Amino acid sequence: MNMSDQIIAIDVSECVQCEGCVEECPCDALQIGAGGYPFCVENLCIRCGRCIEICPVLAISFE
Ligand code: SF4
Ligand code: SF4
Repeated sequence: MNMSDQIIAIDVSECVQCEGCVEECPCDALQIGAGGYPFCVENLCIRCGRCIEICPVLAISFE
């Protein structure tokens, strides 16, 4: 799979709702949705990987 095809996946069963990923994202691609969990707006994501690095519980990955 080409890197540019990869999308961010957030495992809400692991997420502790710290919002660190939302703060770290350089292009506001991560937003807090219903229930207080973040989701990724795919057309804003530049696939920099910063959210993956910042998440304290490893809840974010490329899929
Ligand atoms: S990969 Fe980068 S641009 Fe995409 S959601 Fe994560 S921090 Fe934001
Ligand atoms: S950084 Fe990880 S634990 Fe924190 S809100 Fe984002 S996905 Fe959830």
